[in-house]
Amino acid sequence: MRGRARCDGAQGRRASEGSPVRIAFVREMEDCMAERSQGEGREGGCRCGGVRFRADSDPLVTMACHCTGCQRMTASAFSLSTLYPSATFEVTFGTPVLGGLREGTRHFFCPECMSWMFTRPEGMDAFVNVRSTLFDDAQDYRPFIETWTREKLAWATTPAAHSFEGFPPEDAFPALLAEFAATRSSPQMP
Ligand SMILES: [Zn+2]
Ligand SMILES: [Zn+2]
Repeated sequence: MRGRARCDGAQGRRASEGSPVRIAFVREMEDCMAERSQGEGREGGCRCGGVRFRADSDPLVTMACHCTGCQRMTASAFSLSTLYPSATFEVTFGTPVLGGLREGTRHFFCPECMSWMFTRPEGMDAFVNVRSTLFDDAQDYRPFIETWTREKLAWATTPAAHSFEGFPPEDAFPALLAEFAATRSSPQMP
């Protein structure tokens, strides 16, 4: 993900894929996913109910993104999303369609109500980024990290524990995911 200017893939650089850094990063993330194969199982769907999905593992991390791409795609100040292993996520009803810029990173929408539902990040097939507020119970998907604060609206704030001016460096992810998991398992989890 390093070198990618925005999470919507507008300025993605494919050249970084397959690099030793990326391969090591993906392996570390996969190790983290393996540890979290047991999960809670959550369902969600679009506004009209035409597309439904299910996530059968604990979330890897929750995020808010302030980039201007997310501002436009959400018609709001920032997007909210939750990273899951692709292997534990499935569309259970309906057929989502592609939207957004359709350049590498793929954003999936309901074909009827056009809700932005989930994203498959370019070069990271093992992960899916589900839009947090589409879960039937979205209350505990409080964002743990926030990204692209350099593009944020001046008044926009989130309760995220970690803020990044752009996208977090890949080598920051293992520690972030471990800290997030510890937060989830603590009784003080908001
Ligand atoms: Zn719909
Ligand atoms: Zn964004």
